[in-house]
Amino acid sequence: MGMDVSERRIELSAPKLGHEEEEALVEAIRSGWIAMGEKVSLFERRFADLCQTPLAVAVNSGAAALHLLLEAFGVGPNDEVLVPSLSFVATANAPLYTGATPVFVDIDHISRPHMSLDEAARKVTSKTKAVIVMHYGGYVAPMNEWRRFANERSLILIEDAAHAPGGLDVGRFSDGAAFSFYSNKNMTTAEGGMIVSPHEKIGEVLKLLRNQGMTTSTLERDRGLAFSYDVTQLGYNYRLDELRASLGLVQLDRLLDQNRRRQELALLYREKLEGGEVLLPFDPAWPTTAHLTPILLPKGTDRREVMVHLRQCGIQSSVHYPPSHTFAHFQERYPGLSLPLTEQFASRELSLPIHPALSNDDVTYVAKSLTEALAR
Ligand SMILES: *Cc1c(COP(=O)(O)O)cnc(C)c1O
Repeated sequence: MGMDVSERRIELSAPKLGHEEEEALVEAIRSGWIAMGEKVSLFERRFADLCQTPLAVAVNSGAAALHLLLEAFGVGPNDEVLVPSLSFVATANAPLYTGATPVFVDIDHISRPHMSLDEAARKVTSKTKAVIVMHYGGYVAPMNEWRRFANERSLILIEDAAHAPGGLDVGRFSDGAAFSFYSNKNMTTAEGGMIVSPHEKIGEVLKLLRNQGMTTSTLERDRGLAFSYDVTQLGYNYRLDELRASLGLVQLDRLLDQNRRRQELALLYREKLEGGEVLLPFDPAWPTTAHLTPILLPKGTDRREVMVHLRQCGIQSSVHYPPSHTFAHFQERYPGLSLPLTEQFASRELSLPIHPALSNDDVTYVAKSLTEALAR
């Protein structure tokens, strides 16, 4: 109970849930069907519309979405998949689920922390089968360039779009994109995920894979549309349910407005912090869903001390991300692997609060508190 501990609480991210979500859940409960059913199908159609893709398949997490995409495109043992190390660990785990090997690629530049096209080109081997591009912080990666990169080498191009639902052209130029609706993402179903793809024909495979390889669903059998099923391949239980799909439908309606609010807040942060000691990655006009507000602290700053000061001001902050290749789990596989730009970026990065419920005043307060912390 230190006297200097602020009353104010500014969370890094916070889901915006209200009366409409409550009503949607009640309606789903009263409908008499809570497992995967018509709400899930409707959620898929609406999400496909958002992305302007012919196909969307709902699953129960972003990690499941990445895994199923790789499987559906036949990625497996002896294949290599190019991945960014500067991402949530789910990106690098996905190839491992299929028996493939993730190959870590460094970022472009500390002011443009997307996976580097040049370094990716150097890491392609005869075994490379796919590449997973991640829209860091919601800042949309240059998908035209990645499409050309993939075409020239006959690679499958996957987007980890967990940060970027509703982002400009996200999901349109790759072979498939994976979204997450975890509670801290731009839209949430508590847990949940979605796959979109321009290849309508992989929809059937994805739907088999998410449901134990079974050829009919429980709903179809319940409705008398089918009487039994076959299992044609190994599958998983990666199904979404009606409760979560109901939440998703409400959240989807608000997504673009909330993304716009996030973009305003991101620009306000820039206004408050530009010209100071911190570096703000990406230029202000870069298309973004503003999922994160990453900043780079001056070299040599004790980040822990900054985070402690912010905490005392009631402000939550975080680091996105500890690079995946530095985790014990991956160090065993790749001893001595070094990705200098990723390591430099991650050692100086700090993520400031951003979510649609923040006020302009909150941003001013965070910027002021950060400036104070740096002046110490
Ligand atoms: C959240 C996230 C995921 C995984 O999503 P889950 O729904 O938590 O499985 C994958 N990649 C990135 C970049 C993420 O931020």
